[in-house]
Amino acid sequence: MTGTIPFLTISGVPVRLHFTFLMLAGLLAFEDRNDFFAESLVIMALFTCVFLHELSHALMARHFGIGTLDVVMYLTGGIARLERLPTPKEGIYIAAAGPATNFIIAGFLWYLQHYVGTNALMHEIAVANLWLGAFNLLPAYPMDGGRIFRSLLDWKVPEEQAITMANWVGRGLAFILAGLGLAFGEWLLVFVAFFVFTGAQQEFYARKSNSLMKGASVKEAMLRNFITLHHGTSIREAAEQLLDTSQQDFPVTHGDQVVGLLSRDGLIQALATEGPDTYVAGAMQRDFLRLAPEDSLEDSLNLLSDKGYTALVMADDLLLGMVTKENLNEFLVLRNFGLRRGEA
Ligand SMILES: [Zn+2]
Repeated sequence: MTGTIPFLTISGVPVRLHFTFLMLAGLLAFEDRNDFFAESLVIMALFTCVFLHELSHALMARHFGIGTLDVVMYLTGGIARLERLPTPKEGIYIAAAGPATNFIIAGFLWYLQHYVGTNALMHEIAVANLWLGAFNLLPAYPMDGGRIFRSLLDWKVPEEQAITMANWVGRGLAFILAGLGLAFGEWLLVFVAFFVFTGAQQEFYARKSNSLMKGASVKEAMLRNFITLHHGTSIREAAEQLLDTSQQDFPVTHGDQVVGLLSRDGLIQALATEGPDTYVAGAMQRDFLRLAPEDSLEDSLNLLSDKGYTALVMADDLLLGMVTKENLNEFLVLRNFGLRRGEA
């Protein structure tokens, strides 16, 4: 995870701080000196509550045997990254654990005040937890309520319909929130609406692509006509191929062996640092992603996203094709119209 530093590990869950979190120290420095102590205490208590919320997701996931990669704390909240997607039923429990924790904290703080007397600080933190819990229950991605809603849909409704319904509910909610925000001059609400709208859209495209890839092999989506470069080709010649063709990534060969992959970025960087008369062998990546033609496209998606959606398709040492982001998009568009390769 870029931009994060390890902070601590609690019951086996690594917690990392995002660099925006460090801005908190800066924000606190601007606080009024008189309230500095109290304000710092409130902010720290709130972040502890957000953290407990995320931790409860992680612990509930573990209850179902799902590990947590890490909990990352951002200035705007936390995110627990799970090792695998839960089933719909598990998903409901894991998502609900977060808001439930906030409600339990609020209840506990109110209960405590019966014994220690009314306390302004405890009251403030209890109210904030109620808001945290309620806000997270909004039925739109990426809020927990959205996850619960999605799990319920996946459980009861066919996939295609579930994806569309979740999208419309997310967008509808965004419009309602934006309307309320504008009507009452609450700009924070307008910001949240924007957040909900983009969240719904991203989730829609991600799930739509996933469902279109179901059952497809890498072979069905791969590019078949492309140029390869010899490892002794100069950067100057490679740059001409970049102009002559629409290709952005070039497999590099040595004899009949594929030895690397030269990307557009790698080529430009070599031009800038080494000049045009060096060889592609020095600028190519040697640890490119190899996929087999029969690999499932859906299962390869995580690997692909790590490599900017570019991979070489190889059977043993034989280069059969390439996967690129552009080609993958074309594949999805055609699949959306029900077209499949080899039917023409
Ligand atoms: Zn949550």
